[in-house]
Amino acid sequence: MRRKLAAGNWKMNGLGASLADLRVLADSHPEPSVDLLICPPATLLHPARAITEGTAIALGGQDCHTEVSGAFTGDLSAEMLGDAGATAVILGHSERRDKHRETSEEVRVKARAAHAAGLMTVICLGESMFQREATNTLDIIGAQLSLSVPDTSTGENLVIAYEPVWAIGSGMTPTPEQIGEVHTFMRARLEKRFGPGVGRSVRLLYGGSVKAANAAEIFSIPDVDGALVGGASLKASDFSPIIEALESA
Ligand code: PEP
Repeated sequence: MRRKLAAGNWKMNGLGASLADLRVLADSHPEPSVDLLICPPATLLHPARAITEGTAIALGGQDCHTEVSGAFTGDLSAEMLGDAGATAVILGHSERRDKHRETSEEVRVKARAAHAAGLMTVICLGESMFQREATNTLDIIGAQLSLSVPDTSTGENLVIAYEPVWAIGSGMTPTPEQIGEVHTFMRARLEKRFGPGVGRSVRLLYGGSVKAANAAEIFSIPDVDGALVGGASLKASDFSPIIEALESA
């Protein structure tokens, strides 16, 4: 049985004052029946740990370097994220693939480094609207999946988030059939590569304009084990109903 996961990606949002909302979220969900993960900006990991310690909320980073340490000004290693309180890291988000020109090969090396540091990786995949219209979405997802996911992956340390680029922050979401098609495809690919045991235990999240109004429908789609949520994870009042929808799914 896969335990469902509601993950929030704060992106480059949040100052010290935002931690008050994290406390509200922790207090509102003392014993959730799903896993909860919040990925604040790295500057907030350490103070966030003081708030989430002993609660159901786990913390994650939003990226990490391939190396453990060295002359890489401005970068953070997986080990540093762990030291600051993270137990997970988002890798290969489309904003990094696009704005930082990250390739799937780099994502794979980063994921290997994160696994070596004991972090769970949430690896993001997704097609652009141009790719959806011009090509076969499954070819794009299949290539990203095989190139981004390292051999060090297990059912515990790998989570995949299917995030169509055109759905992120746009208010647009794919149809349930479109989400279901991609998730079924990813599950089959994982089972083929890692065997049914690991392949069936990897959690598959959907991400892209998830909000309270559409969460229940998305969570009813087979092989959707939760969500990676951007905008609607910033406020406890927006994220809580999504968590509750996942608990009821
Ligand atoms: C994201 O950036 O991972 C995301 C899903 O954003 P949003 O929920 O705002 O579309």
